Order: sequence, then structure tokens, then C-alpha cells
Amino acid sequence: MTIHAKSSSGGSYEVTFRIENNRPTVTCTCKAGSIGQACKHKLGIVAGAHEMFDIPAQVDNVVSLLASPEWQQLVSDVMEITAQIRAIDAELERLKSDQKVLKRSLATRFNATSSNRRD
Ligand SMILES: [Zn+2]
Repeated sequence: MTIHAKSSSGGSYEVTFRIENNRPTVTCTCKAGSIGQACKHKLGIVAGAHEMFDIPAQVDNVVSLLASPEWQQLVSDVMEITAQIRAIDAELERLKSDQKVLKRSLATRFNATSSNRRD
């Protein structure tokens, strides 16, 4: 099954779902997708993100395909891994924020107007 995914430059890419060597595979014709990366088109189409579809009527086709048993493992793996990546992103944001506070605190050690100044 081939789905047309919207490209940010205005055209569309082809996201193709097929079983290869008994394994469900998803390919995309974009630059990242064509070298095997999890591009935003593969992820968006698998997630059923309506705004990614160039042909709105194809949303139902993907939903039906992915509901079939041979595709369920891929869908659950993708959901689990993307959730883990989001959790890491959130943790990184928290760490960056902590780092910023520490850097500001470090700067006050060299600053005459520091509230931590001891004479
Ligand atoms: Zn792509």
C-alpha cells in the first residue's frame, strides 16, 4: 500500500507499506526515509496524523492496514520507542534548565553584586 505524505516543500512523498521476508516494512521516498531513517513522514503516517496525508481519504486505508495482526507489533514498537524518546527529550530539557541555573550561580561567584558575596 502506498500513501502520499505531504512534503514541507509543497509536493508529496510516497510512504509504502509492504511485507518483506515476513517482516512489515515502511519506506519513504524522502531523503532521510530513502536511507532507512525514521523520517517524519513514516512516523506521521503510521501515527495516523491527518495533517501528514496529502490525500485525506487514505487515512482510513492506513488505519485498517495497521489494525491487522501482522502490523500490530510494528505499531506497538513505534509507539513505545517514540514515548521513550519523548521522555528523554523532557529529561534533557529539565537538565538544560538545571544547568542554566548552575551556570548563573557560578557567574555570581565572580560578580561584585552577588547576593552570595562574603567580605
Ligand atoms: Zn519521509
